Amino acid sequence: MPDIDIAVIGAGIVGTSTALWARMRGHRVLLADPNPPGSGTSSGNACTLATYACLPVNDPSVLTGLPKLMVSRDSPLAVSYVHALRNPRWMLSFLANCRAARARTIAGQLADLLSHADAGLNPLIAEAGAEDLVVARGQLSVWSTEAGAQGAEAGLALRQRLGIPFTELSPEQAREMEPGLRLPIERAVHFPAARHIRDPEELVRRMHARFLELGGTWRQSTVTGTRAHDSGVEITLDDGTYTAGHAVLAAGAFSKRVRGAGAERLPLGTERGYHLLYAGEAARVTRPVGWGEGGFYAVPMARGLRLAGTVEIAALEAPENAGRLDYIARKGAEMLGPLPAPDSHWLGFRPTMPDALPVLGPSPTSERIIHAFGHQHLGLTLGGLSGRIVTDLAEGRQPNLDITPFRPSRSFAPL
Ligand SMILES: Cc1cc2nc3c(=O)[nH]c(=O)nc-3n(C[C@H](O)[C@H](O)[C@H](O)COP(=O)(O)OP(=O)(O)OC[C@H]3O[C@@H](n4cnc5c(N)ncnc54)[C@H](O)[C@@H]3O)c2cc1C
Repeated sequence: MPDIDIAVIGAGIVGTSTALWARMRGHRVLLADPNPPGSGTSSGNACTLATYACLPVNDPSVLTGLPKLMVSRDSPLAVSYVHALRNPRWMLSFLANCRAARARTIAGQLADLLSHADAGLNPLIAEAGAEDLVVARGQLSVWSTEAGAQGAEAGLALRQRLGIPFTELSPEQAREMEPGLRLPIERAVHFPAARHIRDPEELVRRMHARFLELGGTWRQSTVTGTRAHDSGVEITLDDGTYTAGHAVLAAGAFSKRVRGAGAERLPLGTERGYHLLYAGEAARVTRPVGWGEGGFYAVPMARGLRLAGTVEIAALEAPENAGRLDYIARKGAEMLGPLPAPDSHWLGFRPTMPDALPVLGPSPTSERIIHAFGHQHLGLTLGGLSGRIVTDLAEGRQPNLDITPFRPSRSFAPL
């Protein structure tokens, strides 16, 4: 008999959600991470339960704008050409998924998944006693140029077809909703079903604390490898070896580094993103506000005003890019008026497959190892649901939604 039923590798929002779901269902669960729970990419994001955010970064406009994006300092998307040349498989697959028909299919698949997101996360919020961290004021998206407003049309029409609720606002209505906005407003849309978390790291901490209260096992240790056999999986940690019935790989952008789990062969990349925190400035906005052309959100959160977002396609190991932080500071002042010097800054690593879909399902190497990574811009939103789905799979149950688009064995650059 194995030491435990389910071993979860990585204690970000995805891994901790999995551990809590599995423990709530009575399984013997081990959760391992060398770092404190929720302290990685899950800590510094834009805090939004973005159930409306089904449009992938992959978009036909990336194909036409790529050469400019690779050199511009004034764009929310930056691409390191050295990294691109070193990773042709990921880049070519990413570009293949930017074709209009593919982008529409991906949006539909993400919208389906997102429609179940709250049902996957709400029970964990309740179990962890974290309702006080959740704010239900929707999300406001604004565009400040005529070109941006027109460019948003196709995506909004697609969202409408996919059944995502939103309300078009006049510029005056948007300013009434968020009087702190200083940028010109050409178009504004409110997504009423969105919520935000006042402190995502604290949410994961509380979920972790509840997991421990329920008798889960925690090891602050790196998982260096997994070895599957017919009746279970051997998990090697820095400080020992365990046998488990199943292992769930939820190490975010670092999942390829766990040897033997089958992620080594998958085209997992990263979209790096940044935030700046202004401690005393939370009252500048009252809900997450996304600026279309700026590519980032202004979010009122427990620690202050967080300006979070942008995409930098570069290596996990590449140094922090001061130009990206400077961009957010400059654009933040355009969006909200003069701001003091930020109190802190942060770089995080979105785990991103080239087709912008998460990976949820049995590893190509063994049914005993289940993959749960690749949540790109949506891990906070989809972590709870992903935890429930992979717990179902470990139990041999069929999840209550179609997860075939997310299987690890899919083709990542379909023609
Ligand atoms: C700027 C920015 C803004 C964002 N805004 C939003 C948003 O508003 N809404 C939203 O839904 N999403 C948002 N996201 C995306 C979201 O933050 C991520 O998708 C999510 O945090 C990924 O969670 P994870 O658990 O997969 O990874 P992580 O949080 O990175 O957790 C992975 C964990 O695995 C651990 N690990 C690594 N290697 C090992 C190993 N060998 N053994 C054991 N453990 C290991 C790491 O230490 C880490 O703790 C944003 C991301 C960024 C960067």
